[in-house]
Amino acid sequence: MRCLSGIQPTGRPHWGNYFGAIRQYIDLQEDNEGFYFIANLHALTTVRQADALCENTINAAMDLLALGLDPKKATLFVQSQVPEVSELCWILMTGTPMGLLERCHAYKDKKAKGLAADAGLFNYPVLMAADILAYDSQLVPVGQDQIQHIEVTRDLAQAFNHHFGETFVIPKAQTLVHGAKVPGTDGEKMSKSYDNTLPLFGEVKKIRKQIMRITTDSRPMEDAKEPEGDHLFQLFQLFAKQDQIDEMAAMYRRGGFGYGEVKKAVAEASEAYFADARQRRAELESNLDYVHEVLRDGARRAREAAALVLSRAKKNCGLQESV
Ligand code: ATP
Ligand code: MG
Repeated sequence: MRCLSGIQPTGRPHWGNYFGAIRQYIDLQEDNEGFYFIANLHALTTVRQADALCENTINAAMDLLALGLDPKKATLFVQSQVPEVSELCWILMTGTPMGLLERCHAYKDKKAKGLAADAGLFNYPVLMAADILAYDSQLVPVGQDQIQHIEVTRDLAQAFNHHFGETFVIPKAQTLVHGAKVPGTDGEKMSKSYDNTLPLFGEVKKIRKQIMRITTDSRPMEDAKEPEGDHLFQLFQLFAKQDQIDEMAAMYRRGGFGYGEVKKAVAEASEAYFADARQRRAELESNLDYVHEVLRDGARRAREAAALVLSRAKKNCGLQESV
């Protein structure tokens, strides 16, 4: 199956990105044809410093490789290196009802907070549709927050196919039962833009401090607590084995424990979990030529695939390539 997904270089990737999305890329690369990209055009709506955007982009590539994305099995590339997608985005925009985009949450949430939104953010779901449709993607592994955008993609593709004839493959989203919405240190959805993230890489000591700062309720230690719905417990669940999870759940239900103990367990489990990736990440840092080579090769393969779809779309809607 053709799979596609992307991650924005808006900051350092976090546990939510891994357990919601990246883990799926690694699993799917074995028996599928995967296209995974670093969404720097999307990130441009929030990162307005050129150096930071460049640095985040190459860092994201290293993060994905360190976590196990294998360029021999899947195609890894940078979004802006496939200009065909931007052209396809325009074609799709011409048939996109304003009302559809007004209902999309990234834009709606920003407006609701009274913040000024730009046209890039408003049109974000259309660029995302172009990203997905440009590769004839069948499956899009994502976190829960992207389900709405994939619905928009399906709507736009179906409308185009209906109007101009069979052109686009209709994609499906795939989310995981555990990890579709990983909570952040404040209990809200972990998100680079909410400043509540626990990063995958970085200084262990610093991450430990962030773990220790996870908010908890202030009920007395003796009280029994329901583990379900507790965000600290949910974070522990990501890393632990079933017997450890059962044990922790029993401890919650008995009461008489401190959240500090749970935080320490989360810190230890997460450090062990990412230890190998951390090692590979360090090796990649001293082999930047290899990373650039992977991205160059990925962009070439991605462009080839996108050019086919773009040319099909242009032909079907009457944009001749030559007269
Ligand atoms: P930003 O705040 O800049 O939008 P983000 O933290 O939401 O950043 P993205 O790069 O937008 O991260 O998302 C990359 C992938 O990670 C997407 O598939 C998204 O659904 C998934 N994802 C992001 N946050 C979470 C989360 N807390 N739980 C599960 N999946 C998540
Ligand atoms: Mg996001």
